[in-house]
Amino acid sequence: MKKIEHIGIAVKDLNLACDLYEKLLNTPCYKKEEVISEGVHTAFFKTGENKIELLAASHEDSPIAKFIAKKGEGIHHIAFDVEDIYSEMERLKGEGFVLLNEVPKQGADHKLVCFLHPKGTNGVLVELCQEIKE
Ligand code: ZN
Repeated sequence: MKKIEHIGIAVKDLNLACDLYEKLLNTPCYKKEEVISEGVHTAFFKTGENKIELLAASHEDSPIAKFIAKKGEGIHHIAFDVEDIYSEMERLKGEGFVLLNEVPKQGADHKLVCFLHPKGTNGVLVELCQEIKE
């Protein structure tokens, strides 16, 4: 794991949250993207080296809608930047962590991603992400 790539925050209304985070971070959102496979609308902010990803459900059955119904708005996941997502997934599986997807998925912001089950990580949803190299 190289560094924390971003922190994901679940929000009800992406536009309202975007306005708020623009004020909070004093920087404009640099990217909005829908990830259809995950049922989310995302918005990204950069603060120096770090990024914040806001996530809003795009439909009722979205994992984000379920998360908010259960826990309310707030920190949803922590994403770590990895050099090679395939070897990192193998390594973590070998250590007994439960992967939520066995094959990396196309995530937002031009990344391959894999999530770890929060039951095995003290309640924290962990995302691995690797920049897609052209
Ligand atoms: Zn993320």
